[in-house]
Amino acid sequence: MKHPHLGRADLHMHTTASDGLMTVQALLDSVVRRGHLDVIAITDHDRLDASLWAYERRQRYPFSIVPGVEVSSAEGHILALWVTTPIPTGLSMAETAAAIHEAGGLAVLAHPYFSQMGEVRRAWHAYRRDPHYLVRAGLDGLEVFNASVVIPGSNRKAGRVAAQLGLAMTGGSDAHTLGAVGTGITHFAGDTDMHLRAALTQRETFVTGRPWPMASYGRFVADYVARRGHCLPGTFELPVDDDQHDGVALAS
Ligand SMILES: [Zn+2]
Ligand SMILES: [Zn+2]
Repeated sequence: MKHPHLGRADLHMHTTASDGLMTVQALLDSVVRRGHLDVIAITDHDRLDASLWAYERRQRYPFSIVPGVEVSSAEGHILALWVTTPIPTGLSMAETAAAIHEAGGLAVLAHPYFSQMGEVRRAWHAYRRDPHYLVRAGLDGLEVFNASVVIPGSNRKAGRVAAQLGLAMTGGSDAHTLGAVGTGITHFAGDTDMHLRAALTQRETFVTGRPWPMASYGRFVADYVARRGHCLPGTFELPVDDDQHDGVALAS
């Protein structure tokens, strides 16, 4: 076998750039310490800055960093993976997928059967009635395990539909707290982001995961209530002391 290693990627997480409760630096330090992931994607809501900040420093880390963003389309949240330029919000699913491809990325519908943060899922009924709607829209894949999803069966349903349509399958934690990072995993042959991208393109990934720890739910829900459900503009600021963190990434 060319790649005996089975890679582990968490392709969906939020920092303080959007509604996450962890800074991008704390997230990176935690993944270094725990050593449980080969690839990560930081996918804040409609903001690339924290993700790009991490991506620009990727050489310092012993895992791959995929630049990305969770785009609020008019038809649901769409993960744009391997993009370094902004993707417009509010477009249709098909327009969003096209914009992501134009930017060189892959388009993955996040939590397909579970709405979050008051998102309007105009397409929901269309693709429930006719799953091929998702293929016609040009999506590359579906997120078939999202660790934040609390509606029973919605991940399984997404998995069945992806298999039926021949779309790639991803798993992600949708972590907003450090404790939830790594609770949703995309598995692939190999250990780098390029191996992962090849596996997604060839539809050869599979997923595992578990729900967020209770403490992560508690912290997220308390924060969500405090925000009254609004996704406030992020509080992301470029860490000024970033050189001091090199020791964490390059300690060994
Ligand atoms: Zn979402
Ligand atoms: Zn999310």
